[in-house]
Amino acid sequence: MDENNVRKSAVIVGASLSGLMAAIALARAGLQVTLLERTRAKPRSGAVLQVDSGERDRTLTAQILRKLASGGVKSVEAWSSVESRLHAEAEADPRINLHYDSGVHAVDQDVESAWVVTNNGEKYYGDILIGADGHRSMVRRHVDPHKPNATFAGYLIWVALVDEKDIPEEHRPTLNASRVAMLDGMGDFLLGSIVAGTDGSYAPGYRRLGWAWYDNTQNDLLRLLGCVEGNVVRHSLNAADIPKQTLIELAKQASVRWPEPWLTAILHSIHTRNLIGTPIAEYVPDRLVKGRIAIIGDAAHVLTPLTASGFNASLQDAAALADCVAEGIEGASAAGALLEYESKRLKSVRQIVQSGQSFSRSFGR
Ligand SMILES: Cc1cc2nc3c(=O)[nH]c(=O)nc-3n(C[C@H](O)[C@H](O)[C@H](O)COP(=O)(O)OP(=O)(O)OC[C@H]3O[C@@H](n4cnc5c(N)ncnc54)[C@H](O)[C@@H]3O)c2cc1C
Repeated sequence: MDENNVRKSAVIVGASLSGLMAAIALARAGLQVTLLERTRAKPRSGAVLQVDSGERDRTLTAQILRKLASGGVKSVEAWSSVESRLHAEAEADPRINLHYDSGVHAVDQDVESAWVVTNNGEKYYGDILIGADGHRSMVRRHVDPHKPNATFAGYLIWVALVDEKDIPEEHRPTLNASRVAMLDGMGDFLLGSIVAGTDGSYAPGYRRLGWAWYDNTQNDLLRLLGCVEGNVVRHSLNAADIPKQTLIELAKQASVRWPEPWLTAILHSIHTRNLIGTPIAEYVPDRLVKGRIAIIGDAAHVLTPLTASGFNASLQDAAALADCVAEGIEGASAAGALLEYESKRLKSVRQIVQSGQSFSRSFGR
């Protein structure tokens, strides 16, 4: 038996926050984990996350994951800071084999194992296979072929992260400014966050300002550029592809809507093309598991970022999964452990997505 074919093993598709947390939790439960990521190892920037949901973590695994992800700090965090902590932990664990540049194009299973085939032609086997491959999950297509796609919620969010040093001193937030601001515009709104610098410092001049502008007026542009097709989100609107006229219009709108320090942060992002338009999708799952294959994180449930619950739900998925496989996954017990995971998570994640849908129905177009 070669090293890709050992028993008591898991293959995880996607090494973003959900995939990393699942890998760490499953390795701690004693599994050998192969983690496959389509992209290269490079930090992404942009969004900020509420890492501490305020929810009490009932299991030890959830507590451990929360501590690792947050670095023990109760605050809003840059996505990249959370990712780099989890990445360092996964890299240091000898039970986890992390492969970048390894996009998966097929998954399947039989009574003995589950497997993936990568774009490089490699095949990896595991006793279980976990899809942590995000809102356009290909593993979800295997788990629920009748409901494979998340649907466009009718709006996008412009997001960016700006170094405080790039903002003139007179427009910087004060030292005791609230770290989170929710501002109403003209039928739209803005979520602003002050997060630590890359070195973890909150000293003035070293912080970063994250902003997320909810905008329901760009749907024609999203369809024209192929970001949305029918009611399916295909990809984000990357900075380089945003038409110049759209940026001019956004700058004009920002100037009459948003106060400092957010206005200067937004204008800086626009002038330096350091922003991304994320079309928002939603997915209420009917199932999370098929045999030896399960989905977690945004592959399993896609919700509006307004709920600020996507990360927390992903953490609870990873923790529940690890707790369910701890008793063993050899032979037929693999499918039993995954069914237990589904019974622990399905009702709750459906409710979380549905809680954000009333907002999307009123705001989306
Ligand atoms: C703008 C925005 C703001 C947000 N704000 C918040 C917030 O404030 N609070 C909160 O809790 N949540 C928030 N979220 C949600 C949160 O970021 C996610 O729920 C959480 O990070 C879990 O993501 P994930 O790892 O499941 O999916 P993703 O981050 O989408 O990762 C999927 C990974 O799988 C890889 N992949 C995909 N297909 C393949 C393949 N075929 N083969 C190999 N690899 C593949 C991708 O490259 C990617 O790395 C926000 C989301 C967005 C978009």
